[in-house]
Amino acid sequence: MKLATKIIHAGAEPDPSTGAVMTPIYQTSTFVQEAPGQHKGYEYARSQNPTRFALERAFAAIENAQFGLAFSSGVAATDTVIKLLQPGDEVIAASDMYGGTYRLFTKVYEKFGIRFHYVNMQQAENIVPFVNGNTKLVWMETPTNPLMNIADIAAIARITKEHKLLLCVDNTFASPYLQNPLDLGADLVMHSATKYLGGHSDVIQGALMMNDVALRDQLYFLQKSCGAVPGPQDCFLVLRGIKTLHVRMQRHCENGEKVAHYLRNHPKVGKVYWCGFEDHPNYEIAKRQMRGFGGMLSFTLKDESIEAANKVLSSTTVFSLAESLGGVESLINHPASMTHASIPREERLKNGLTDSLIRLSVGIEDIDDLIADLKQAIG
Ligand SMILES: *Cc1c(COP(=O)(O)O)cnc(C)c1O
Repeated sequence: MKLATKIIHAGAEPDPSTGAVMTPIYQTSTFVQEAPGQHKGYEYARSQNPTRFALERAFAAIENAQFGLAFSSGVAATDTVIKLLQPGDEVIAASDMYGGTYRLFTKVYEKFGIRFHYVNMQQAENIVPFVNGNTKLVWMETPTNPLMNIADIAAIARITKEHKLLLCVDNTFASPYLQNPLDLGADLVMHSATKYLGGHSDVIQGALMMNDVALRDQLYFLQKSCGAVPGPQDCFLVLRGIKTLHVRMQRHCENGEKVAHYLRNHPKVGKVYWCGFEDHPNYEIAKRQMRGFGGMLSFTLKDESIEAANKVLSSTTVFSLAESLGGVESLINHPASMTHASIPREERLKNGLTDSLIRLSVGIEDIDDLIADLKQAIG
């Protein structure tokens, strides 16, 4: 099946008990047994829930994976991957990634004896000097948040295969509509389903997708043992969100492109970070591994003062000032004080994330209203 068909039909089978076309919300904690151990495959809802299972089948289908697992948040999905490791193991992670992932690695897992190396992955071979006998996992994100840097998934996968390391790609920004890391050689895909998969800013959820059954079994064991499962109502919302992923993403891409070009031509705007510009440093890789460039972009003003940035951030009316991204509505964000405040300032500046950087999640409203809003806000 082609993507648009899969997105709508993935995981959805009429409910066996009633024929309901939409997967019911199985709001139950437990399931009756006829005799001890005699049941219909469902015992207790932390381990099995039909609504969650339907969503997990959908997760697998949209990433061309064999298996999908759903978690109570994106960071819970990341947390579960790190729990595959032992004290003494080492991870090579992207130097420019989601602030919450960085916080989980440095503030939680370092104290359990796991070592993280942060590497600029825009050149795949940069990871090679950090590989040693303890290295187990490479964690990458592309495009990165918020600077829209691109890393070459296939090139990094060749290195991780050679050294027998697990490769996990946080595919939140691209969404499965634009990029499928497993097809490019990754072992695991992670999503914050809170963003494009849910698509309506009404749920927190995470996903993992994989092909290897042993890996799936280990991760399922951790999902059940540690318990970061989403509730059935949230699973229903994400199942419904996924059904329109392709039409939403198509419009996100169109609007994102128009906003990127508008900003680039604006006399008061400094730099625009969007991976669809032909002079973007890794444009060729982006074009090769993605089917479009999405609705995420960042920019600076020529006046690099925080006051100037703050004026724009508090003057938009269609773009709401808020954390998060990937919903149908447009959002504007100040990474240095909001989404990326958990990264120390020196680390942020090293990666080019300046205090005056503004990030946009371009929604699917009418493009004329979005441009008019930016025009009045930038002045
Ligand atoms: C939001 C986000 C996460 C974390 O997901 P939550 O659902 O907020 O826990 C991880 N990675 C990226 C790229 C994100 O944008």
